[in-house]
Amino acid sequence: MLTPQLERINGELHYEGVALSDIATRFATPTYVYSRKAILDNFVAYQNAFSALNPLICYAVKANSNLSVLATLARAGAGFDIVSAGELRRVISAGGDPRKVIFSGVAKRADEIAFALSQDIYCFNIESESELHRVNDVAALHGKRARITFRINPDVDPKTHPYISTGLKSNKFGVAHGDAIRLYALASTLPGIEVHGIECHIGSQITELSPFVDALRRLLALVDQLAARGIRLEHIDLGGGRGIVYADEKLAPMTEFAKTVADELRGRSMHLLLEPGRSIVGDAGLLLTRVEFLKHGETKNFAIVDAGMNDLIRPTLYDAFHPVEAVSANSVAPTRYDIVGPVCESGDWLAKERLLSLREGDLIAVLCAGAYGMVMSSNYNTRARPSEVLVDRGNAHVIRERESFEDMVAHEHVV
Ligand SMILES: *Cc1c(COP(=O)(O)O)cnc(C)c1O
Repeated sequence: MLTPQLERINGELHYEGVALSDIATRFATPTYVYSRKAILDNFVAYQNAFSALNPLICYAVKANSNLSVLATLARAGAGFDIVSAGELRRVISAGGDPRKVIFSGVAKRADEIAFALSQDIYCFNIESESELHRVNDVAALHGKRARITFRINPDVDPKTHPYISTGLKSNKFGVAHGDAIRLYALASTLPGIEVHGIECHIGSQITELSPFVDALRRLLALVDQLAARGIRLEHIDLGGGRGIVYADEKLAPMTEFAKTVADELRGRSMHLLLEPGRSIVGDAGLLLTRVEFLKHGETKNFAIVDAGMNDLIRPTLYDAFHPVEAVSANSVAPTRYDIVGPVCESGDWLAKERLLSLREGDLIAVLCAGAYGMVMSSNYNTRARPSEVLVDRGNAHVIRERESFEDMVAHEHVV
């Protein structure tokens, strides 16, 4: 298999038993395609590896917020990590349990806090002193107490791309490690606040274990200092950030990750929370696109496809690598192509210097596009966002229709 559930049968790529060429015929291109089994297998891998700790696994909705993806995970018992009231409404629409929801993000509005309190979410992850006061005020106003953690910035280097590193002193996220004791002491005096846990989230696409261990140890040192001051915490949340294999990354095995965390937590009765996003959906989705034109330049060859940076921005935003496969095997001589889109920007590329056998009109699959793909898409160039299809044991279901022109202009007024 190329990625989970993706295999070549008689030269044709099949995803969880469905030919990608059939999906293109039925639903056109560009289209995001996800495998339900691949998503579930990724979730179950966490459940199994961490089973001794019985963690609450809160899927980070922002990685892929399609209602069917959320429903798939909700039915498997997942909690959810949200960063907006909109994401909470998605979780509820998908049948998720709000009492398994944690609310992250640096700028929660008062109305979002009130809505989350009305749904009795599990916990607010507080990122600043001002936010602590806002949550306290809103809770007190509604006669409630909000369960909180502080998101601690442990100042560890996750050794990942600067745009997706979040646990360094220079990042906007969390409260400084050195401020934590004072803030917990303050929080424990506020009537609208119930101090409940401690959290960190140090970055994304982390392939090594050591940054997680460093962060966990720094959090546990705080837990002990707080206990000495009579502040007892019930849960510890290690955030998300586990990487996936896009190219040739060496990823520490999940079982080793779980065992390392379990060793660090030995002898403590704290409930563990995790917030994985990318590692649940990243390798469980692909972007299906068609070659419009092949352009052979003097120094470069371009395959111009019908998906662009508005559909998948990760390559140009993070210089990210996604594997690319021709959907149908053919006997054309392989040529080195840059895969570029139709958008009027030189940054509109999906892949560079890939050796592929292509003809105009062929389909290609951009792999590992299940996380931070569709959710980051836009209408730039008045391009309708792609449809989304879920394959499930040999059947393909549309889980989001392709946008129409009317959808795109629905909220505009000519004055
Ligand atoms: C984005 C985010 C996650 C998920 O990160 P992944 O790298 O996708 O696992 C988890 N927690 C918080 C607070 C986030 O912002």
